Amino acid sequence: MSDSNPEPASASPRFLEGQVAIVTGASRGIGRAIAVQLARRGASVACIATSADNCAQTVAECEAAGSRAIALGCDVSKTEDVAARVKEAQEELGGLDILVNNAGVTRDQILLRMTEDDFDQVISVNLKGAWNFIRAAARPLMKSHGRIVNISSVVGLIGNAGQANYAASKAGLIGLTKSVAKELASRGVCVNAVAPGFIETDMTAEMPEAAANELAASIPLKRIGTPAEIAHVVDYLVGPGGAYVTGQTLVVDGGLSL
Ligand code: NAP
Repeated sequence: MSDSNPEPASASPRFLEGQVAIVTGASRGIGRAIAVQLARRGASVACIATSADNCAQTVAECEAAGSRAIALGCDVSKTEDVAARVKEAQEELGGLDILVNNAGVTRDQILLRMTEDDFDQVISVNLKGAWNFIRAAARPLMKSHGRIVNISSVVGLIGNAGQANYAASKAGLIGLTKSVAKELASRGVCVNAVAPGFIETDMTAEMPEAAANELAASIPLKRIGTPAEIAHVVDYLVGPGGAYVTGQTLVVDGGLSL
């Protein structure tokens, strides 16, 4: 008799053994937590940041988790550089199965003070950067029936005063995710977004303590999130549990956007 509910392969803690992942913005914060989590699952990881040196600690943590890792430097907004780094990652690590577009920046300012450069810079890194990687990685990912995860933000869904550029880039990532999910579904590639709420990283460290406490108190779960809590959701999306999920945006915000 066949088993109608077979144990998923995710029962193995190293269910990504033999797979290759690229993680952008992997030098710190959420990107580092994602890279290390994928390494724990057995994936070889290409860690990308503005300079390869910035990823030294992430590479060391991936290796300590028992997997191969390399550091590559590039500005994600530069189309030709991205294509070269994607090729390098495939050649060094032997293929490509997972792409996580996590690199991101903020240039917060109220609308009337926001400069054209503030707007262009945030769109170029956060939105065009993801498009650059998706386009460069699409062919190998079609071959491997791989997965793409784009790190958006809850701000892309609900907006935020002082973040018109950032919110537009993160909302754009959700449209990009849905469109690419439709285009690549017939090739067996699942494409999803994760929308974190307020997560404790360098990006949010500049907020004054009183304001951070006030914000935490307004979150239904009464605390800000950790990079590991985002990494575990990415882990689900790229693992066997995410095989039938595509075009979705998973909100991971402790209820902030409710
Ligand atoms: P973070 O600590 O500021 O780290 C940003 C990462 O992006 C670094 O690795 C940085 O590399 C890389 N990066 C920035 N510009 C780049 C460029 N032009 N080319 C290549 N790499 C670049 O940020 P985080 O808080 O971990 O956030 C990670 C992602 O989650 C971002 O997309 C962010 O928008 C999103 N997010 C964060 C929060 C939050 O509360 N923290 C909430 C929602 C969404 P270098 O070290 O080389 O500068």
